[in-house]
Amino acid sequence: MRNCLPLLPGLLIVLLLAPSCVVSPATGERQLVLISSDQEIAMGREASPELEQQLGGLVQDEYVQSYVASVGRRVAEQSERRMPYEFAVVASPVPNALALPGGKIYITAGLLRAMESECELAAVLGHEVGHVADRHNVQGLQRQMGVQLVAELAAAAVGADGGTAARVGTQIVGGMFNLKYSREDEYQADELGVRYMARAGYNPYGMVALLETLQEASGGGEAPGWTEILQTHPLTSNRIEEARRNVRRQHPNASPAGCTVADDAFSRMQQRLGPQPAQEGRAP
Ligand SMILES: [Zn+2]
Repeated sequence: MRNCLPLLPGLLIVLLLAPSCVVSPATGERQLVLISSDQEIAMGREASPELEQQLGGLVQDEYVQSYVASVGRRVAEQSERRMPYEFAVVASPVPNALALPGGKIYITAGLLRAMESECELAAVLGHEVGHVADRHNVQGLQRQMGVQLVAELAAAAVGADGGTAARVGTQIVGGMFNLKYSREDEYQADELGVRYMARAGYNPYGMVALLETLQEASGGGEAPGWTEILQTHPLTSNRIEEARRNVRRQHPNASPAGCTVADDAFSRMQQRLGPQPAQEGRAP
């Protein structure tokens, strides 16, 4: 009994922070998540202005934004978790994509320039929707910042105004930039991405093409400017092979060909972004 006493304060905190255990609508697995979906959405809302600023600001081009958002919505509609998914393009030349808690998803101009087709775009957005649907970012923040701090930030985010919102936002953005998804989370997000893009009518081999594009552009992980996506999204040959096996198993009739050709809408989006700026590519 004496041995249990030191555990009590922590246990009480956990008990007071219900709803605690939830079931993932995407995978059916039980998860320890101590914040509600409303709190999660509020966290994302408070963090988004600072995150956008740190990633170079929103790209000021209505066509680029609405094109990416339309592909994102098409994929997100297939998710088992109903959240207010939103998609935005930020100007950073560093290839990256990330999802805030609550469903705000960002992709950088640098990543859009590196891709070859809409299937790859659907794959990366599907992957990020997968992270939200299976609550990887909330669980990652809980692991990294501690469940108590995340619960406090989540509670503070709801109805926050002025200085409180900015302070909460800064802490969440700091957490997001240090967030490291587990290998299992990455494989799961790839699998969910394939599921959502295929349901939306995209060739699921887009996921394989996307991972190959990322690997090629990263120069095997050594190229400068790639630390961020490699940090938040570990990329290995095994992961590409696993994606290929998964697509082959789930979609035996799909063809690996046909995902490398850009259609007019995708090409127009890339033209409007313009070429990758010279002498940039450092972390934003
Ligand atoms: Zn990921």
